[in-house]
Amino acid sequence: MSLPAPAWKLSAYVWAVCLAGSAALLVLLLAGHGQLVAHAAVPSAALAALAVLGEFVPIRVFRRDAEGEITLSTAFAFAVLLDAGPLAATVALLAAGVAADLHLRKPPLRIWFNAAQYALSMAAAGAVLALLTDVPRAGDLSFAAAELPGIVAAGCVFFLVNSLLVATVIALAHGYAVHVYFRTDFAFVAASTGMALGLAPVAVLAAHFSLALLPALALPLAGVHRAARQAQELEHQSRHDALTGLPNRVLLRGRLEEAVRLARRDGGRAVVLLLDLDHFKEINDTLGHGHGDLLLREVAQRLRDALREEDLVARLGGDEFAVLLGETGDLAGAVALARRLLGALEAPVDVEGVTLRVEGSIGLAAFPEHGDDVDTVLRRADIAMYVAKGGKTGVEVYDPRQERHSPARLGLAGELRRALDGGELVVHFQPEAELATGRVVAAEALVRWAHPRRGLVAPGEFVPLAENTGLIGPLTLVVLDAALDQRAGWQDAGHDLDVSVNLSTRSLMDRRLRGHVEERLAQHGIAPERLELEITESMVAADPVRAMRTLADLRDLGVRLALDDFGTGFSSLANLRDLPVTSLKVDKSFILGMAERHQDAVIVTATVDLARRLGLRVVAEGVETAALWDRLRAIGCDLAQGYHVSRPVDGDRFTAWLAGRATAAVPVLRREAA
Ligand code: C2E
Ligand code: MG
Ligand code: MG
Repeated sequence: MSLPAPAWKLSAYVWAVCLAGSAALLVLLLAGHGQLVAHAAVPSAALAALAVLGEFVPIRVFRRDAEGEITLSTAFAFAVLLDAGPLAATVALLAAGVAADLHLRKPPLRIWFNAAQYALSMAAAGAVLALLTDVPRAGDLSFAAAELPGIVAAGCVFFLVNSLLVATVIALAHGYAVHVYFRTDFAFVAASTGMALGLAPVAVLAAHFSLALLPALALPLAGVHRAARQAQELEHQSRHDALTGLPNRVLLRGRLEEAVRLARRDGGRAVVLLLDLDHFKEINDTLGHGHGDLLLREVAQRLRDALREEDLVARLGGDEFAVLLGETGDLAGAVALARRLLGALEAPVDVEGVTLRVEGSIGLAAFPEHGDDVDTVLRRADIAMYVAKGGKTGVEVYDPRQERHSPARLGLAGELRRALDGGELVVHFQPEAELATGRVVAAEALVRWAHPRRGLVAPGEFVPLAENTGLIGPLTLVVLDAALDQRAGWQDAGHDLDVSVNLSTRSLMDRRLRGHVEERLAQHGIAPERLELEITESMVAADPVRAMRTLADLRDLGVRLALDDFGTGFSSLANLRDLPVTSLKVDKSFILGMAERHQDAVIVTATVDLARRLGLRVVAEGVETAALWDRLRAIGCDLAQGYHVSRPVDGDRFTAWLAGRATAAVPVLRREAA
């Protein structure tokens, strides 16, 4: 955990226990000489042997640290205490503990500490037993009823001293407060230890009655063992994610609470990273849950490998992971670690023969800089993560300025799915007119969100969100449907227009796209060549192989393809040769720039010239003025789209405008509906 105590405190404590335990053993040896109860020799030896054996079948009851497990050897050593006194019991317990520790190759100091801690616990129990009872009595096996409270008290003291010594070392080593251990584990450990210790008197009687009876004790002990293990498994399940085995949100919260508490006390810091995988939903939808699950496991493993032991990585659900940093230096160090984590995800993942690339976005927030409590820190890490995702920046540290957009964005993300189902997405149309004749030959479908409270939301605000949340597939189909439906309506009204629809990066990776398009064209009775799909070079660049496959599918279907926003990004005319597009849409920034910048005019002229030579139709976007219209016509550009012709408007207005235009000489419609 976070903020371990200074190392000197831990080693001072360990050495103190080692020395005190050794002293206790010495006192027992000196005082106990000759005290070994003769009658108990054989049965006690058998019980001691069982104590050693019990050490190798431990009941792992401690949930935080395996070091603290309670073993059945405690019960048998306690039986030896009742039968032959503290010295024999301590010797039996030490023999058991040391044998097990040697077997586990624990370091010498650890072995010494464990032995010392047992010696102290047993000595304390022996002292209480001697004080309150006169058990063990030579030759006398009866436990008087009046002695039972004393025996119970000795058991309790053994357990308490043992727990306290162990809890303190865990607390010092890991930075827990001692009381945390008692708060979380005490009741559980006490119950299972109580059951085991309760067997001690029975074991004594059985051993004396007949050694052959001792194996019969195995049954109740096995029961204790099983119950403890089951309880522990349940406990584990409730705090861990079944798929990856990582801690879950419950455990993360608990640890974060503790880290914040410690940071508040010591003036430290608690840093949380939230990681969300990009494109995971897409992978899950296209390849199936089996692949998705394997990918998540691989990601979990990579994160674990990339982190230090003291860091906690949890899966919060879906494709969301969280990391609570164990050792926190400055925030720059945490950012560097976050980048390393993203780097660890970079190498391609092979999932049953499919090579997948995973990328993620990480948001980072810290106590006390970004929030004063667990909920605020988590929420702000979430906001930072969304900003990282939206800006494709990889890692973002929370910044209050992010709040200005983020709650709106976060809210929108949740609402978008409902909007899709509830028909809140509407499609507007913007005409494309022939520069030579002024005739409207096509319309581009542009989506808007008729939000009940916010009014008409522009696609720039929610299309990227749809891309990131896996909703872009359904969104594209909604727009496609509306566009084809409208196209059929115009046809009925006597207007013969082509219609174009914008694709997104994700739709371009989805091979089912061809099927969807084909189906809808057939439904509306529209020939494929009357539909144009717009793509951008950056969409293709995201995964050229897959994109080219989908594009080839669409071309084979007979649908026309246009290269949108040409000139932005790393456009290259060489790409035009390889892409199966038939039109080029020159980005509005160049068209609008033509009026002011000579270079823009040169670029547009050269692009138009070259594209035409390649047999492509050129559409100028952003034609806002009559002057631009005239210049573009002079250059030889084919089509114009822009406010000079019309703003995007809804289907009805568009139809009305078309009808009016048939009689009017000048195109007029300058206001966007709603
Ligand atoms: P785009 O495909 O390049 O669409 C043209 C954009 O330019 C539209 O913005 C349009 O309103 C705007 N525009 C048209 N004429 C003019 C003009 O004369 N001057 C200026 N300044 N702007 C003009 P809009 O509708 O906001 O759409 C923005 C982008 O959102 C689109 O750019 C497209 O990339 C994306 N988009 C729109 N609808 C969809 C959709 O259904 N699916 C996907 N994947 N993306 C869409
Ligand atoms: Mg477009
Ligand atoms: Mg464009």
